[in-house]
Amino acid sequence: MDAEKLLSSISKSSDETEFYTPMPAGYRPGKTKYVVVFGTVMSGLGKGIFSSSLAKVLQDKGLTVAPIKLEGYLNLDSGTLNPFRHGEVFVLDDGMECDMDLGTYERMLDQDLSRCNFATSGQMYTRVLEKERKGSYLGRDVQMIPHVTGEVKSKLRELAVISHADVVFVEIGGTVGDVENAYYIEAVREMAFEEGPDSFCFVSLTYIIEPPSLGEQKSKAAQLGIGRLLASGIQPHIIACRAQAPVSRKVREKLALYSNVPMECVFSMHDCPSIYVIPEMLQEAGIDKAVLEILKLTDRVDEVAAARARQVWRRYIERFHAATRPVVIGITGKYTSVRDSYASIIKALEHCGTHHGVRVDLEWIDTTELTDDRVGEALRNVHGIIVPGGFGARGAEGKISCIRYARENKIPYLGICYGFQLAVVEFARNVCGLTDANSTELDPDCKHPVIDILPEQKQIEGLGGNMRLGGRDIQIKPHTLAWRLFNGASEVRMRFRHRYEVDPRYIEQLEAGGLVFSGRAPDYPIMQIFELPQDVHPYFVGTQAHPELISRPLRPEPLFLGLVAAAIRRAYPQEAEGGSAKPAEAGATAAKPGPSQPVGSGT
Ligand code: GLN
Repeated sequence: MDAEKLLSSISKSSDETEFYTPMPAGYRPGKTKYVVVFGTVMSGLGKGIFSSSLAKVLQDKGLTVAPIKLEGYLNLDSGTLNPFRHGEVFVLDDGMECDMDLGTYERMLDQDLSRCNFATSGQMYTRVLEKERKGSYLGRDVQMIPHVTGEVKSKLRELAVISHADVVFVEIGGTVGDVENAYYIEAVREMAFEEGPDSFCFVSLTYIIEPPSLGEQKSKAAQLGIGRLLASGIQPHIIACRAQAPVSRKVREKLALYSNVPMECVFSMHDCPSIYVIPEMLQEAGIDKAVLEILKLTDRVDEVAAARARQVWRRYIERFHAATRPVVIGITGKYTSVRDSYASIIKALEHCGTHHGVRVDLEWIDTTELTDDRVGEALRNVHGIIVPGGFGARGAEGKISCIRYARENKIPYLGICYGFQLAVVEFARNVCGLTDANSTELDPDCKHPVIDILPEQKQIEGLGGNMRLGGRDIQIKPHTLAWRLFNGASEVRMRFRHRYEVDPRYIEQLEAGGLVFSGRAPDYPIMQIFELPQDVHPYFVGTQAHPELISRPLRPEPLFLGLVAAAIRRAYPQEAEGGSAKPAEAGATAAKPGPSQPVGSGT
C-alpha cells in the first residue's frame, strides 16, 4: 500500500479501528522529508545548535527548511520558567514565549518562527483533553498511543503544510530514556512508518566520554544510549559523536558495530572554537551529503546557491575571528548563570562587534549593593552599558545609579525594556525634578508613577494578567538618532514582553526635560524608544522592546550597532576624530527589520 492510501485509511477516528492519525487539511504524504535529532547519554549536547546548523546547510543548498522543538515539560509555554534555571525566555513575533533554542534557529536560519515551530507536552495534552471534552474520540478510551502520539504527528504535519518546507527538522528535547519525551519518540517511529521509505532521517547525537584519569575515549555510555533508541524501535541512520577531541576510528567502529550504522555515517562532532564554524564542520565531515542521500534529495541541490552561501558564511567567520580589538560592555546582572539568561543579548553584541571589527568583552555588574557613591568604581572599565530586561525590585536602585552615571558621564547606554523604564525613572528624578518618581512595579504608591501598568493590562489584571507580547510596529520620528540608525525607516517592527509602560501623563514633562521619544506605538501613546540628542550625550538610548531578539549574524540589530559604535568611539577616541564608526553610519549596512517573514520562507 502506498503512503497516501495508508494514511487515508488510518486518519479516520472510529471505534472500529485501532488507528488514529488526524491529518491536517492540505497535507500531502511523502512530499515533506523529516530529520529527527535525538540526544543520548546526557543533555546539554547542543542538539539545537547541531540541528540548526544542519538545517542551515540544507537551506543554503536551496531547500526550504522548518525547525520544530518538542519539549517534554508540561508548561504550555516557557513564559513562567525561571531564566536563571532554564535560560532566557525567547519571544517570537506571534507572541509565543519559548525555549532559547528557538533563538538559535532564528539566528542560524535568519528566519522568523512562530508557535508552529514549538511544542510542549502541556500543549499536546491540552489538545487531547479539549478533544476529549468535545467528544471527538467517539466513545473511545483516550490513550497515549494512538491519541497523544496522533497529536504529535499532526503537529509535525501542520508545520509541513504551513511552512511548505522540503525538510522539517525535529529536535526532541531531553535525552532518550526520559519519561517525558518517550511518546515523542514513539510518535516519530509511527510517523516514519506511515510516511514510507526515504522520508525520515534519524540522527542520534551522543557523547563520547574521555576521563582524564584514563586519557582514552570510551564509547560504552554512547552504546547504551543508542541501545535505548534501538529498543524504542528507532534505527538511527546517522550517529554524530560530541566529544572534547576528534573521535577515534576505534570508537566509531565500536558504535557502528553495536548500532547497525555504517562507519561512513558515524561522525565526529568534537568541540570547536565557535558555533559559527559548525555548518562548515558538518560539510567537511559529509553529514549533509549523508542526510541528502538518505532522504533522496541529492538531485534537488542548487550547487551555485550553495557555493555562494558558503562563501558569505566563510567571510562572516573570518571577520568574526579577525575582530580581536577589545571593547568592554557592562551589563547589569549577577554573573551566576547569566550566560543562558542573556543569550540573545550576548549574541546581538557578538553580531555587532563582528560588524564593526571589534571583540565585545562583557563585564557583569551586580547592582544589588550598588549606590551612587560606589558606581564610578564599578563602571571604571566599561565603554558602554546595558541594563537588560528584568522584573521586580531587587537591584533596581543600583541599576538606576548605573544609568545616572552613564548619563552624566556620557558613557554609551542602551536600556532594554526594564532598562528603558528605569532610565525614564532616573531622568524624571534627576533631570525633571520629580524626586519621588518611580515605577509602580517597584513602589505602587509613589507620588510620580512615571512608569505604570499598561491600560490594556489593567483590564485583564484581575483575570490572571498577561503581558504585552510579541511583534509590534514602532513609528520612528524623522531626523532622530533612531531614524538614522534605522536608515530613515518610518516604521520598524520589534518584539515586546512587558506589563508596564511610560505613563502618558508624564510624556510632556519628560520631553520638556530634554528626553526625545523617537519611537512610539502607531495607535496608542505607548513610548517604545527614547534617546538624548547627540549634542547632549554620545549615545543614550532605551527601548521598551527587546531588540536583541531580532539580531542576526548577517543582519545585526541597529540599536545594538549604535551602542557598539559609540563604545568604540569611547574606547578609541583618537580614531573617532578620523570619523570611523559615526553613529549615522552605524546602521547603514544593516537591513531594515521589516515585518515577519512567513515560517520556512528561507532568508
Ligand atoms: N518588569 C517590566 C514590565 O513588566 C519589564 C519587563 C522586561 O524587562 N521584559 O514591564
